[in-house]
Amino acid sequence: MYIVMISPECAPVAKVGGLGDVVQGLSRELEVRGNSVELILPKYDCMRYDRIWGLQKTYSDLWVPYHDQWFHCDVYFGFADGLKCFFIESHSYKNFFNRGIYYGDHDDPERFAFFSRAALEFMKQADKHPDVIHCHDWQTGLVPVLLYEMYKFNGLSHPRVCYTLHNLKHQGVTGDFILRQSGLDPAPLCNQERLQDNFNPSAINLMKGGIVYSNFVTTVSPRYADEIKYSDLGYGLQHTLYVHGGKFGGVLNGVDYNVWNPAIDPHIACRYTIDTLEDKYKNKEALRNRFFLRHDYKPIIGVVSRLDSQKGVELIRHSIFYALNQGCQFVLLGSSPDPDINNHFWDLKDYLNDNPDCHLELDYNEELAHLIYAGSDMIVIPSAFEPCGLTQMIAMKYGTVPVVRNIGGLASTVFDADYDDRPYNERNGYVFNDYNFEGLESALHRAIGMWYSYPEYFRELMTNGMRHDYSWNRPGSDYENIYHHIRE
Ligand code: ADP
Repeated sequence: MYIVMISPECAPVAKVGGLGDVVQGLSRELEVRGNSVELILPKYDCMRYDRIWGLQKTYSDLWVPYHDQWFHCDVYFGFADGLKCFFIESHSYKNFFNRGIYYGDHDDPERFAFFSRAALEFMKQADKHPDVIHCHDWQTGLVPVLLYEMYKFNGLSHPRVCYTLHNLKHQGVTGDFILRQSGLDPAPLCNQERLQDNFNPSAINLMKGGIVYSNFVTTVSPRYADEIKYSDLGYGLQHTLYVHGGKFGGVLNGVDYNVWNPAIDPHIACRYTIDTLEDKYKNKEALRNRFFLRHDYKPIIGVVSRLDSQKGVELIRHSIFYALNQGCQFVLLGSSPDPDINNHFWDLKDYLNDNPDCHLELDYNEELAHLIYAGSDMIVIPSAFEPCGLTQMIAMKYGTVPVVRNIGGLASTVFDADYDDRPYNERNGYVFNDYNFEGLESALHRAIGMWYSYPEYFRELMTNGMRHDYSWNRPGSDYENIYHHIRE
């Protein structure tokens, strides 16, 4: 099949979180399976240009109809880790993608509505007729709407659309002027069955548009699929997902083991496998050296996370002090676009600055993340909600035992050492239910106790996690089946 991914992110070039990893990993898996895959992304000024190979302008003068004018774009082509990527550069006075950030501006809905229109206009003008267009999150929710309301009659009648919801917290709720600017007539679209927001009747919801208009809708774990359909984690889209339930399902994300794999990782101090697990501890020493932590017989507990309320920032904070009190070391790599959360963690960093057992790195650093996964003994993920979560699956590949909340994709991938029903050789971490300090402590206490008192059993948990296959192999096949299904 010929598949075009239209996405706001793709690792390692333009990555904010798991969405970037997923688009990269899934695209690569689909190629390995013999499909032809191309990606269309915005050409952000803040991308990792050092990770793009052979970037060059391939289409000059792509004129995109927008806001009763024609906006001038150029399209660049380059390989991002071997994937064929087209980057749309907008020269409009609105300066859509030269803001030094990926998201977080007041006009994000407009920036990505423009990107959606530009991506389809590019496909039309470049004569691209993929079997499937796969779009991701609210930023590309308008793609299927534009395709079926406009481009279908305009030369793009072949493609079918698969749409993946990565996080329902962000839905692209905005005014109907976005539709007019994109060239659509708002009148037939602004109603309950189509794009009208379920909470605010005077607003439209781009993610809802994506759900209504796509041929198939997926989300990133089966558990999250239920949570967003039947609980307030749907943030108002429960009814829409229920109505469209016949074309909706959860597919657990995979991890790209070409990127996240201690046997071949170029970013860690010493490579290792399940058979050379002792070498993991060279990474622990390297992590200590990097952050000037003392060398002592203690476990290192790590966190690699966006510092967002979704990720349970108050529980992350609590886990630092709890772990230090329980004789552990703590390493955090995290960043937040929210100034309140950021300031809070900077104060915390100041406060803990002289502690030889703790380091907070308040930054986004892709390479450093690898060393933390490799050098830590455990990783804490106390999320309020978690659509899938990749960090627990990555950690397990590195023999780092996850301590997680029983929610979303975390619940589908981490099985409690003490309480799960599965056989012992499938248990791989520690899980707690209640989103509060006591819940978190109940799991951390057991994990730390196991590390100190029963190291052989702790090691079994490490190897159980390493052995489990969370690669893209199975989800890649699931997505192929979905594509075949919608083609038929
Ligand atoms: P989300 O998409 O909600 O952020 P996921 O667990 O699905 O969460 O994916 C997070 C991805 O982002 C992982 O690859 C993780 O290693 C990476 N990541 C998160 N925070 C940072 C950071 N501060 N520096 C480097 N990588 C990070």
